[in-house]
Formats: sequence, C-alpha cells, structure tokens
Amino acid sequence: MRRNDRLRSQALASRQRGREQDTGGWFAMASEDGVSRRALFGAAGLAAAAAVPAQAAAPAPASVAGRRFRGMVSDAQGSRIEALTLLDLGPRDCLVRMQASSVSYTMTGGVLGASRTPLIMGQGGVGVCEAVGPMVKRVQVGDRVLISATAQCGWCYQCLHGRTDWCQFSQTSGHPFARTAAGVEVTPRGGIGGTSELTFAPEEHVTPVFTDLPAASLALIVNQIGCGFAAGITQAPIEPGSDVAVFGAGPVGMGAILSARVAGAARIVVVEPITARRENARRLGATHVLDPNAMTGAELVEAVREICKGRTDRLFAGGRRWGTNVFGQDGRGADFVLEAVGATRFPPKAEKAPDDTGVLPLRQAWDVTRPGGHCTYMGAAQGEVSFPAIGIALNGRSIHAAQMGGQHPMRDLPRFVEMMERGIIDLGALVTAYPLDRAVEAHQAVADRSILAGAVVFG
Ligand SMILES: [Zn+2]
Repeated sequence: MRRNDRLRSQALASRQRGREQDTGGWFAMASEDGVSRRALFGAAGLAAAAAVPAQAAAPAPASVAGRRFRGMVSDAQGSRIEALTLLDLGPRDCLVRMQASSVSYTMTGGVLGASRTPLIMGQGGVGVCEAVGPMVKRVQVGDRVLISATAQCGWCYQCLHGRTDWCQFSQTSGHPFARTAAGVEVTPRGGIGGTSELTFAPEEHVTPVFTDLPAASLALIVNQIGCGFAAGITQAPIEPGSDVAVFGAGPVGMGAILSARVAGAARIVVVEPITARRENARRLGATHVLDPNAMTGAELVEAVREICKGRTDRLFAGGRRWGTNVFGQDGRGADFVLEAVGATRFPPKAEKAPDDTGVLPLRQAWDVTRPGGHCTYMGAAQGEVSFPAIGIALNGRSIHAAQMGGQHPMRDLPRFVEMMERGIIDLGALVTAYPLDRAVEAHQAVADRSILAGAVVFG
C-alpha cells in the first residue's frame, strides 16, 4: 500500500492547491459583484457549507501516455498476451492499475473465438486509481475502486427514474486506450475491459471502496456474483421466511442463493445439472437441489411446486390451494424465483444442460412462481419463449428483467463490501485465481464449466 499512500498524498496536495485557487477565484468574483459569502449563505449556512468535504475539480494530470504494460488482446486471430503502450487519458477517464478481473462466461466467445476489432476483453474488476481526467470528481488518485459493467451517472433519464441498472452510459463501445508494438490501437470492451495490467474506465463505471478485502473476491462481487446477489434485494426483495427457487448455480446463481440465505428464506430450491455446482449450492445455503437431467420438465416443475407449497392447504388457516382451480391456476410455487441459466456457447466438460438455448428454464421459472409471486430473469438465453396468455394476465406473477441484477453500483457495491467485511457473505472459496499469462486458459476453464468461478489476478 506504500505506493498507493504516496499517490494519494500527492493527489491530496495537488487538490489542496486546486481548492485554494478555486477559493481565491470565488472571492474575486464575489468582490466584483459587491456581495459576500456571508450575505449569500448567512453564518449558519456558511458553517454548514464549510463542513461539507470539498469536491473541487481535479487538476489536470500529467500525461500518462507512453506508459508500458501488458494485456490480453483479442482480435480476429484470437487472444494472446501482448506488450502495450498507453494513450492519453480522456477528461472523464480514470486510469486504474488492475488487481483482479473476474472471468465471465459472456466473454468466452470473444476470447476463445474471434473479435472483429482489437479489444481488451473483460467486465471490469478491482484495482487502484493512478490518474484521473480533469472532469472526474467521484474518484481520487490512490483510491481502491471497483469497475462495473453497469454505469451509474446519476444524471441520465434512467438514473433519475430509479433505473440506474439501465443507466444510459452503460454498454458504450469505449475508445482506444493503448497501442500494440505493431501500432494497432486497442479498446477496452464496453469502455472498461479488465484483463490488462492498466485500463481506462469512465468515472460513471467506477465506485471507490474503502477495504483491504482480497482482490479476487471483490472481482466477483462487482460482476457475476454481485449480479445474482443484487437480484435478490433490488427489484423484488426476497422476504424472510419465503420460499425461493434458483435456476442455475453458476456464478450468477451462486449470488442469488447467497441473497436468499442472507434474506432469511425458509426454503431455497436450486435447479442445476452439474453435480459439483449442486454440491456447492448446498454449501452456500440451498435446502433442496434438483437435477433437471434426472426428470422430465413437467416433473421438475411439479417437484418445485411441491417443495414450495407451504404448510397447509386450509385456506382459512393461511393456507393455499394445493392443485389447480377451474381456471388451471395452481396455488403452489415459490414466492421468489431467480433464473440464472442462459444459453450454452461451448460444449461443457461437465453435465450438459437439458436445453442449450436456455429458453426452457425461462418458462420453467415462470411455471414454478406461485400466483402473486415474483420471477426475476438474468440469464442470456437465445430464441423465443412463450407463455399462456391468460396466465400472463391473470396469475398475478410479476416478471422482473434484472440487467446486472438491477444493481445500482454506487448504492449497492459499498453495502455488498460491508457484508463481506462482516463475514455475512464469503466468496473466498468460490474463485480459482489465474495470473495474466494464463488468462486464455482461465476463459477456457469457464467455458468448460470445470471451475465454479475464475478471476485473473494481477501480481
Ligand atoms: Zn445514468
């Protein structure tokens, strides 16, 4: 941390100079207008204003262009580790020295296949900020930061309407930030990348965190596990004592299971074809695990409904109907269902899913949601899914589309970190760490589904 401390003290000294200049400028303006701060704010207001930590604009940083580092470059020829040279920082960019980046199944296509343009693949991660553009306010040099695929600007239409998970700064294409030895410009995927020793990330994608937690665990909470965990506490918060069904026990599903356990769910039913993942789901808190390859789809739906039917069918005693009414509506089913399956892109070196498209579990998740319950979708399936029209209208099930679990990074990531600090959630045993030199191998392991979760950890 000595290097970080030095960077932080340099930045603080620089910012202090900036504040002094700003203050002088303000008084000069006030003098010209013939007013004083005291006249504007009053004594109490002035004291309150003085108590607010200053957020003066950062001074223009020294150029970072020319710095050398290494990263995994993915292009039409595949992926490999290359030496890179940094370009200059944009006004809203943060330069981050990466500590860890989780390996996402979503990235495997671009890493193990081909990318049309030269990219640094990745969905962010954790690192230490080494420089900021002159317009950056949220982050200071020396901060440990989480870089998330979902932005939170706070100003766009979606952020102002409570749907930061759809912040309009998310999913941008980014801009080139480095050059290869051959002079080819490389862009961080999604504007953030992750599998390189240095990266640029726009301020909107960056959340400062004040913790010494292990980098690999933080890389997972900012990405897949944080997605599943957020889904259980954001749009359809899991209620204590409720019944929860989770489809898929990969990294996103693991987060969903943890959220159900933390919320105090009575029953947590996990549907997962891979034996090792079902066993891990048990360790995380699943009360029941089901193998979708061991039964038909109809039997699976019936099994979940039977587990999640409550303790009585005596309606006057708080029970519900066990079976269908004249309209075909079944009173059984989970209160909260979280789907985290998605399409299979590569043949797994573990048990196959019953449906490579991921569409079947979309329908099953809806089928096992009790009338009036909540069904939250996270998996990236491929194809079309159909539902009975009368059921969509009259069964009272609420469907939630949980882009990144409905996460608001600046609101949610610090509290997730707090729960990790308190030991309420512990991700240490879930992640397999790989050095940068083995980043392609890490993506192959994730594609094979031979590990629970992977992260590239920088030395
Ligand atoms: Zn926004």
